[in-house]
Amino acid sequence: MPTGKLQVVPLGGLGEFGMNCMAIRWGDDIIVIDAGLMFPESELLGVDIVVPDITYLLENRKHVRAIVLTHGHEDHIGGLPWVLNELNVPVYGTEFTLAYVEDKLDEHGLLDDAELIDLVPGQRVTIGPFTINPIRVTHSLVDCVALAIHTPLGVIIHTGDFKVDPTPTDNRLFDLHTFAEYGKQGVLALFQDSTNVERTGYTPSERAVVPRFEEVFARTKRRLFISCFSSSIHRIKLAIELAHQHRRKVALIGRSMNDSTEIAQDLGYVEIPDGTLIHPGEIKNFPPEKVMVMISGTQGEPMSSLSRAAVDNHKHAKIEPGDTVVLSSRIIPGNEKAIFRMIDHLYRRDAHVIYEDGSSGAPIHVSGHASQEELKLLINLVKPRYFIPIHGEYRQLKRHAELAASMKEAVGSVMMLESGQVLEFDELGARKAGEVPVGRVCIDSGSRGDVVEDMIIKDRRHLSEDGIVLPIIAINKLTGKVESAPEIVMRGFAAAGADNGLMTGARNIITQTLEQSTDEEKKDWGLIKEKIRQDLKRYIVKNTQRRPLIMPVILEI
Ligand SMILES: [Zn+2]
Ligand SMILES: [Zn+2]
Repeated sequence: MPTGKLQVVPLGGLGEFGMNCMAIRWGDDIIVIDAGLMFPESELLGVDIVVPDITYLLENRKHVRAIVLTHGHEDHIGGLPWVLNELNVPVYGTEFTLAYVEDKLDEHGLLDDAELIDLVPGQRVTIGPFTINPIRVTHSLVDCVALAIHTPLGVIIHTGDFKVDPTPTDNRLFDLHTFAEYGKQGVLALFQDSTNVERTGYTPSERAVVPRFEEVFARTKRRLFISCFSSSIHRIKLAIELAHQHRRKVALIGRSMNDSTEIAQDLGYVEIPDGTLIHPGEIKNFPPEKVMVMISGTQGEPMSSLSRAAVDNHKHAKIEPGDTVVLSSRIIPGNEKAIFRMIDHLYRRDAHVIYEDGSSGAPIHVSGHASQEELKLLINLVKPRYFIPIHGEYRQLKRHAELAASMKEAVGSVMMLESGQVLEFDELGARKAGEVPVGRVCIDSGSRGDVVEDMIIKDRRHLSEDGIVLPIIAINKLTGKVESAPEIVMRGFAAAGADNGLMTGARNIITQTLEQSTDEEKKDWGLIKEKIRQDLKRYIVKNTQRRPLIMPVILEI
C-alpha cells in the first residue's frame, strides 16, 4: 500500500440542492468532478444564477489537472463558464455532455480556448495519478456516467445522478455488470446520489409515461402542446414518435428546446422523420388536430414561451378552446405559484391542462433519480468499505446515510460529509480532516464579468454603490388598466450623475412595456413586475453602466 493521503473535498451539492462540485486530491494532483450551478430562490432579486465558490481550487491552481463531468444537467455543468474563466483546465465528458458544454462555452466566448476531451463509457483515461473508468448509468438525461476512479489507495466510485432504468428509450443500458465487478474486486468508497432517498420502491422507467402520452394523443381533438425540460431527451423522443404515429406535424418553440433537440438529433438520440418538423410560423397553416408543439417553460418562468402563450403574448403559439397543454415535468418547490398562475391562464382559455396533480394512474412525468430500492441495489453490488451520500440537502444525506448503515453486510462504514469538509483516506482508513472555504457566488445577468461575491455583501454593495430604483405603477386589478403615469423613485442612484433625461427615458420604457403587454399580463403582477424589471435593467445598464437594485411596485387601484 503506497503511503500518501487521498483527499475528497466537496465544494458544492452536499447539504444544499444544486451546484455539484467535488475535488479529489492525491499529493500535488487534483481533479474536479462536475461544476454545477444552482438556481437562486426568488428572494434573491436580480441574481440570475449561483455557482460554487472555488477559492480552494484557485489557491491550488497549479495542481488542478482536469474537470471530469458525469452528465449535462445544469446542476453539474452550469458553473463551467465561471470556473473555466478563472481556471482553464481540460474538461472531460461524454459526447452528449460535451455538446451541451460547447453551446454553453460558445455563448460565453470561451469555446476557442477550451480543451474538451471525449469520455467513452468503458474506456479508461489516466489523469496524473488517477485512472478514470466512466460507467454508463441511466437518468432523465442521456449519455450519463458514473465514475470509477482508481487511486493509489484503491477505487472510489462517484455515481453522478442516476436511476436504474431497465428500459431507457435509447436502449443504452445501465452497466450493472461493471459495478458488480468492482464490488468483487473491492471498492474503497462509494459516493452516491441522495436526491430521491425519501422515496420507497423503484423509480419508474422513462417509458412509464408512454400509456399516459398515448391516451393524451388519442383524446386530443385539437392542438397539442407538450412542455418538458429541454434536457428531457427521452421525453422529447417519445413525444415526437407519437406525433408521427398520429400524423401530427411537430413545431419546436423556445431556444433551449430547439438547441437541445438539434443536439439529440445530431447524435442519434432523437429521430424526426422527414416532413414532420415545421417552423413555428407554419403552425397556423395546418389544421389544429395535425399539430403538436413542443414548448419550453414548464416552471412558469415569466419570460418563457409557454408563460407568454398562456397570456396570448406569443407570436406563434396561440392557445385556443379545446387545445391540450401537457406539463411533463416536476413542479420544482418554490415555483408552485408561478406554475399554478400559468395553469390558471391556460384554463381561462378553455384548454385542457395535464400536469402532475398527484392523481393515481399512469404518470405524465417520472423522476430521473433512484428511489430506495435502487440505491440499495447499487450498494449491494459495490459493497464499499466507506459509503458517503452526496447530492442532497442535509436531511436527504442523513436519511441516505441511515439507509446505508442499515445494510451491515454490504457497507463498512458510513461517513456524513458537507460541502467544504475534507475527507481524508490513508492506509489506516478515512477521517474528516479540516475544512476549506466554500460558499455561493451570485451572478447577475449571466455575464461572466458580473460575479458578485457574497449575498449580503452583494445586497449592501448594490445599495451603496448602485442605489435602488423603485418604479411605481398603478394598475386596476379588475380591468388591468394603467390608471396613471408611472412614477420612479431613485435612491443612491439619481444623485450620482443621473439627470432628468434618464428619468424621462426610464418612464418611457415602463410606458412602452405596459403598452406592449396584454391586460391579462398586467393583471398578473408577478409577470408584469418581472417584465418591467428586465426592460428597465437593460435600459439603465446601457445608459449608465450601473446596476441598481430594481424593485417594481404595483399599487392596486
Ligand atoms: Zn441530473
Ligand atoms: Zn443533479
